[in-house]
Amino acid sequence: MAFLVKKFGGTSVGTIDRIKHVAKTLCAARKAGDDIVVVVSAMSGETNKLVAMAREVMPGTVDVRELDVLLATGEQVTIALLSMALKELGCDARSYTGAQVKVLTDSSHSKARIVSIDNEPIMSDIAAGRIVVVAGFQGVDEGGNITTLGRGGSDTSAVALAAALKADECQIYTDVDGVYTTDPRVESRARRLDRITFEEMLEMASLGSKVLQIRAVEFAGKYNVPLRVLSSFKPGQGTLITYDDEENEMEQALVSGIAFNRDEAQVTVSGVADKPGIAYAILGPIAELNIEVDVILQNIGENGLTDFTFTVHRDDYAKVMAFLSERKDDFGADSIIGNDRIVKLSIVGVGMRSHAGIASKMFQALSEAGINLRMITTSEIKISVVIDENYLELGVRALHEKFELAEEDSA
Ligand code: ASP
Ligand code: MG
Repeated sequence: MAFLVKKFGGTSVGTIDRIKHVAKTLCAARKAGDDIVVVVSAMSGETNKLVAMAREVMPGTVDVRELDVLLATGEQVTIALLSMALKELGCDARSYTGAQVKVLTDSSHSKARIVSIDNEPIMSDIAAGRIVVVAGFQGVDEGGNITTLGRGGSDTSAVALAAALKADECQIYTDVDGVYTTDPRVESRARRLDRITFEEMLEMASLGSKVLQIRAVEFAGKYNVPLRVLSSFKPGQGTLITYDDEENEMEQALVSGIAFNRDEAQVTVSGVADKPGIAYAILGPIAELNIEVDVILQNIGENGLTDFTFTVHRDDYAKVMAFLSERKDDFGADSIIGNDRIVKLSIVGVGMRSHAGIASKMFQALSEAGINLRMITTSEIKISVVIDENYLELGVRALHEKFELAEEDSA
């Protein structure tokens, strides 16, 4: 018997049949003795439809207060339908919008932050044996205005509820059955991880493994809420995300996963003076344009000149190239060279902290595969390389093999 917060994403409640299926599994868990708070997203595609309607009415800058009122309706539909489905099965349930439970947020419409949650109404329903169904993605500010937490925000709602209610675990049900060593579409021998640490999950998520909203993982780590990713369609243990402490001892793999990001582009500012202020002169204006810079690299200066290379999201590439080309005389650059056909490939693992030689093993694997490394960066639990996009699949498989991440019986 456990106290669980279970979150079902849009695909899991995407049709009436699926809602009924979710209700059945919830009822079974309740009958087995678990106390359950369910958080649901809108039916898949609904939030996008609502956004499109808003754009039709307000093609310019949409009014964010009213947009939040509109978007919050998506989740209100699913909480009602799921509660009905539960009652049909003879399982007592009650639905609540974010405002009703009182998920209090700040007033930043469309990207609100949760301030507090009122436990009282939920806990008295739980004490009465009910399943509590809460709308994800939404809250209410001090002034009573409806707010939303940003796209994918239901994950964060679930984690925040689990933290506030001191639940034993927050279980995120989705269309994959866990977190994998790498993307199974690229490496069919990718293996589901039983456990992964919050830190590793954050690195994997920020590198494009879009299983969980990054904010939700950060939140879970901060409040030490054990987080589990499970499939709503395929029974199984999923992947548990926790701290690696004595209580949750993990089998220490050196590398837990191979992550990658296809959306990168590289920009080189060549022949600039090797003197104070140059990095700022180039990157300051880029930051002011609200463009996020990822990998940054500067060469050792020779003859008083140096090259400066960095990566940005591919969507920002054209803008950055145009901007710098126009301004290259301001910082005295010879030329601006770009490439938007590059990707970032990374190995992630907390085991790196205590083991030497992981980087050289990575470079060996990539060299054996004949892959040219354009840039290399490292952090405490991650090593990343920037390579040509054509070599991504090959690189992922080479690293997966080298670090022996595959399923044992599928070799
Ligand atoms: N329905 C919202 C979205 O599509 C929130 C969520 O699904 O987590 O972004
Ligand atoms: Mg989602």
